[in-house]
Amino acid sequence: MVSKNASKKNIRNIGFIAHIDAGKTTVTERTLYYAGRIHKMGVVHDGTTTMDWMAQERERGITITSAATACEWNEYDVNIIDTPGHVDFTAEVERSLRVLDGGVVIFDAVAGVEPQSETVWRQADKYNVPRLCFVNKMDRTGADFYKTIDSISKRLQARPVAIQMPLGSEEQFSGVVDLIEEKAYLADPDDPKKIIEGPVPEQMLDKLGTHRNEMVERIAETDDDLITKYLEGQDISKDELKKALRDATIQYKLVPVLCGSALRNQGVPLLLDAITDYLPSPMDVKPAIGSDLETGEELIRIASEDEPFSALAFKAVADPFIGKLVYFRVYSGSLDTGDTVLNTRTGRRERLGRIVKMHAQRKEELQSVSVGDIAAFVGGRNTTTGDTLCDQNDPVTLESITFPDPVMSVSVESKARADQDRLVDALDKLSDEDPTLHVSYDDEVGQTVMSGMGELHLDIIVDRIRREYKVEANIGKPRVAFREAIRRAGNGEGRLVRQTGGHGQFAHVILEIEPLERGAGFEFEDKIRGGAIPKNFMPAVQKGVRDALDVGPLSGYPVIDVRVSILDGNYHEVDSSEMAFRIAASMATKSAIGRARPTRLEPMMKLEVVSPGEFLGDVLGDLGRRRAAIRNIEGEGEIQVVKAAMPLAESFGYAGSIRSLSQGRASYSMEFENYEEVPEAEIAAMANGGQG
Ligand code: GDP
Repeated sequence: MVSKNASKKNIRNIGFIAHIDAGKTTVTERTLYYAGRIHKMGVVHDGTTTMDWMAQERERGITITSAATACEWNEYDVNIIDTPGHVDFTAEVERSLRVLDGGVVIFDAVAGVEPQSETVWRQADKYNVPRLCFVNKMDRTGADFYKTIDSISKRLQARPVAIQMPLGSEEQFSGVVDLIEEKAYLADPDDPKKIIEGPVPEQMLDKLGTHRNEMVERIAETDDDLITKYLEGQDISKDELKKALRDATIQYKLVPVLCGSALRNQGVPLLLDAITDYLPSPMDVKPAIGSDLETGEELIRIASEDEPFSALAFKAVADPFIGKLVYFRVYSGSLDTGDTVLNTRTGRRERLGRIVKMHAQRKEELQSVSVGDIAAFVGGRNTTTGDTLCDQNDPVTLESITFPDPVMSVSVESKARADQDRLVDALDKLSDEDPTLHVSYDDEVGQTVMSGMGELHLDIIVDRIRREYKVEANIGKPRVAFREAIRRAGNGEGRLVRQTGGHGQFAHVILEIEPLERGAGFEFEDKIRGGAIPKNFMPAVQKGVRDALDVGPLSGYPVIDVRVSILDGNYHEVDSSEMAFRIAASMATKSAIGRARPTRLEPMMKLEVVSPGEFLGDVLGDLGRRRAAIRNIEGEGEIQVVKAAMPLAESFGYAGSIRSLSQGRASYSMEFENYEEVPEAEIAAMANGGQG
């Protein structure tokens, strides 16, 4: 009998990863088409695609949410986890990368490696995602397969290996040659679903020889047996090549590169073959790492049906028809519909009464799920992104997904007063889906405030509120999420002594605060030896420190990147309490910050502008006015690429300015990079009626 785990080798959990406009939607469409799930091809510019089911995504032509879609190819189950192409949604990319086993990175054969592809490539590196590259749009004027491969190895420092070569290029592009099989594949002009397989045209045999040899050498280099054979001039069989290439891809030693034109139905079936041939199954990837709920010790969950059940919730979506859907990936074990699992974050039990698998246009009801599966369950009111769902008797917390804190906020209110409750309800639901969207209520001014990762991010939220919840909303002026920090170490003392009739209040705390490097966050250390403050008061002391750090002395923004060490103190047998220590610690922290030369920080955005040379002067002039620091200007023919760091505070309205100053011909990408000190001159300007 075939073991249950064996069938799992036929699962591929993949994502198409690309710069916006490279053709991800079209490739996904064609994939679903060839895999037989949908019968009419959608064309992106008509707005009829299957994956982009959200209305405004159709209009904008970009894919924002990561829905998971299933299809079948040969004997394989392929789950496609959709990833957004726009950098304002990096958090979405991160969460997709966390749950997929392999990626297909799509490039535009004319543009090559674009700024955002670079960003996403680095994210995929972070999660060690094995990948293939698909050089799309080979039919476009200016398409260049080999130049794109060159930019993959230079800009991304990857080791690409071309396993195909194009038949013709640009207008003449008519199909691809598979270098391993040494065969040509063309789309049948009468029936796009049919692929015509044939011999490699006579006049291309020389080229085939050269490119095949290069490929064989690259593959052989990754395998000790093959390299010996290669150097001795022995024959290497197709199966040997494929096996070695599969191993090298999974270990991320090589990145196979394919080509095609999704729009012209070229290359997608071979891409699907490559996905099943070279990308890992859930059984090929490293075991999931988690921790013990009580001790925090590391626990490993091997990808096997025989292990206890564990799964990670990676996306919550409000489905207009069936309510809240929580997408999850199973890392170990199995579960029947109706079983109860433990959510380790909330400590609550969750009964998975209805589990569905999402295909492009329909939902399939599942009776069970097991290791490697990606599915969604209905309900899950208390489950959000990053939560672990596991066997109640064998609990484990899987590594969660981390999201950056929002960097800007706007006030938001409904145009019609009567809609305010519905607006708040919509915001609640949307922030449940999107961990980088935070919603709060500002008591002082009586306003609802939403915070996110950039202007486009919040624009899209307002758009969704209008379309999905039918509420028209107005937003206020964008506000930057400033931070505060310190420039040197400082000591502080807090002493609370209150004698009011009977029972008094007493606590005494001495501490030191030191600056840490940017991005380090908050560290807390108890350096007391000998019980000057009993251990049981330490949690209260830490709370007091945090109270003070939450509201910085300069303009009330949180103080970040510091270490606070508790050095000494005093307590009283009767009069000391947790509350007293919390207050004393807060007083001590405030006084220490005051001595540590506090300073303001502002979020900086990493910016890359791609512009025709004739507008370069205007682009740079505008960047100068926006306090941007230019890091690099690089030219490739007519096109200039400017890399810069720009304060978020100066970035508002950038889309409009760049459009008007380049007559719509320059494009850019922008994402949050880090926090940096605000220059003195700006602080003065802020004090005179600016933000803050
Ligand atoms: P996404 O933003 O990465 O999802 O890209 P889309 O799939 O929406 O494609 C962007 C644009 O490129 C659309 O207008 C597509 O019709 C077009 N496109 C996609 N694939 C190809 C291709 O192979 N050749 C050409 N010439 N255009 C393509």
